[in-house]
Amino acid sequence: NDKEFYCIGCGAKLQSVEENKAGYVPSSVFKRPSSELQNIYCRRCFRLRHYNEVSDVELTDDDFLRMLNDISSKDALIVNVVDIFDFSGTLITGMQRFAGKNPLLIVGNKIDLVPNAVSHGKIRQWLTERMHEVGIRPKDVVLASAKRSESVKQLMNVIERERNGRDVYIVGATNVGKSTLINQIINIATESNDVITTSYFPGTTLGSIEIPLDDGSNIIDTPGIIQHTNLTHFLSGRELKQVIPRREVKPKVYQLNDQQTIFVDGVARFDYISGEGKQPFVFYVSNDLQLHRTKLENADEFYEKQVGKILNPPTEFTAQNFPKLKRHQFTINEPTDIVVSGLGWVSIDHIKTKIAMWAPEGVDVYVRKTMI
Ligand code: GDP
Repeated sequence: NDKEFYCIGCGAKLQSVEENKAGYVPSSVFKRPSSELQNIYCRRCFRLRHYNEVSDVELTDDDFLRMLNDISSKDALIVNVVDIFDFSGTLITGMQRFAGKNPLLIVGNKIDLVPNAVSHGKIRQWLTERMHEVGIRPKDVVLASAKRSESVKQLMNVIERERNGRDVYIVGATNVGKSTLINQIINIATESNDVITTSYFPGTTLGSIEIPLDDGSNIIDTPGIIQHTNLTHFLSGRELKQVIPRREVKPKVYQLNDQQTIFVDGVARFDYISGEGKQPFVFYVSNDLQLHRTKLENADEFYEKQVGKILNPPTEFTAQNFPKLKRHQFTINEPTDIVVSGLGWVSIDHIKTKIAMWAPEGVDVYVRKTMI
């Protein structure tokens, strides 16, 4: 059957091939008579209508750029959600250009993962500086935890202040917590009145969802762009539960001599190659991951033998197809974080230190000025 049907909620073309893409419905739906098919919600809109819950939809890179371009012609407040834990990996470069004349609000999400002792003011300042470096000049930067309704209420106040009666577009990469945030917003909105369950979903072809606001404007939840270079992309199920931090991350400090290696289970490896003697390295990764120290000269063999066993995740099963670890070497000249996208980072204070970070091939490794 080559006839095309569209979700009457979001307008996305119905398809049953990819669950995480816009317009998904189970294939059994296509067996229904075509008169019925003209009146169907995609799974995402169905869930929203019946459970007041949004699920995640991914866009291809091209569709995502097209969508951002569309947004630039709107009169709206743009809210870009980024993951504080993987800031560079989730920042949309060119965001300023896409925002056009529209005001831009940056939400640094998952602040609850940052160690309590760290001042939020400092993190906010740090985020603002990193954005200025790449030419993004937001009206405001808000730290938030989409999981906490208090935090989302505060964010809503800022949005209300900045939007000035305009629509609000929420954009971001996948996994930054956009759905969690939208669900919280829906919860808050439905607490006070019932607008959501009766809401109206106008057609767009990209599967955006509109949440009506009191004054006739809308909050528009847009599909996310997939982060192909994020570690979580290469793991599944139980492994993700271990790798994605769920609670405040406890920094792990290792005093290392040169020529020593730390494995972050089997998903990353850090070598202290040379520098001014013994020095501390601070690891910010999920508390559920184990760090293992070896001599650098034994590290290759240790990994070969133990990946999927002692070094787990990846599980023995995943390890069979897990990408090889690729080496990235750096010489540290100022306090620096070495970040593995989707995993966390190692913080290094001493200069003239030569290190190597190993991450699965295809996963981004980047350096930045220390955050904490
Ligand atoms: P989306 O792809 O941007 O819609 O992201 P999701 O809302 O599906 O969230 C991705 C992951 O991040 C999930 O495991 C969430 O539980 C988690 N998450 C989302 N928001 C927060 C937050 O504020 N704090 C923490 N610790 N985790 C969060």
